[in-house]
Amino acid sequence: MKANYHTHTTWCDGKSTPRQVADAAIGKGFAVLGFSSHSMLPEDDVGWVLTPEKAPRYAADIRALAAECAPRLRILCGVEADYVPGPGGATPDRAAYSSVAPDYVIGSIHFVVASDGARVPVDHSPGQLADGIRDHFGGSAEAFVRAYFAQERDMVGRFDFDILGHPDLVRKFNARHPYFDEQADWYREEIERTADAIAASGKVVEVNTGAISRGWLDDAYPSAAFRRLLRVRGTHFILSSDAHSADAIDCAFDRFADAEEYLAAPAWLS
Ligand SMILES: [Zn+2]
Ligand SMILES: [Zn+2]
Repeated sequence: MKANYHTHTTWCDGKSTPRQVADAAIGKGFAVLGFSSHSMLPEDDVGWVLTPEKAPRYAADIRALAAECAPRLRILCGVEADYVPGPGGATPDRAAYSSVAPDYVIGSIHFVVASDGARVPVDHSPGQLADGIRDHFGGSAEAFVRAYFAQERDMVGRFDFDILGHPDLVRKFNARHPYFDEQADWYREEIERTADAIAASGKVVEVNTGAISRGWLDDAYPSAAFRRLLRVRGTHFILSSDAHSADAIDCAFDRFADAEEYLAAPAWLS
């Protein structure tokens, strides 16, 4: 069954409208297409926030499209919800998105909150990341990466969501702008501890090809090594493209579809 549950559109930072993405999915023989507009955050200083005013309009738009496309394509209305700890932050909790009544919630981390309260963006640009590590983590990439995984372990244990989004997003710039060693003992220890927390939570993990379509990495999130740690702990996976345009909805799916085992029918689909 061809499916993608991680899809952005013009409702947030995607380039295509929901209808353009649905047409592409029908053309490519998809059975299921899940939309996952970005988060509710208090301020729209990043330009892609599902504000309280936009959220119900987003849901109504996706539900109307779902009615039109059924039964050729099953369309689901989800959200990609941020975990930003601290005052004025955001939680990937189903209850926080009641105005959308989402079919499923993806929990993701795009900002690591430092001990001084600063929000350091993980994946905006190599320059912003370097500045954030210098200004808020004492110049230590290891401290930043460890804080990212600690925040992720906290997230999977505490909140009511369905899919863990891009579990090692900290790797995004590490191939083209290396800033830490993925073979280091401390890194292996972090992903092992995080795999334990994910397995204990029972969350589904996405194998996300978004960094391949955007030319940053030649592998998915999570890495092959991280996937092995999760697989032996019994974690279930889905395959997702994190598409920001209609043509990318199945980017590199052929590279992973045979090698990994994916849930054909996640619980939220029934
Ligand atoms: Zn994301
Ligand atoms: Zn996304």
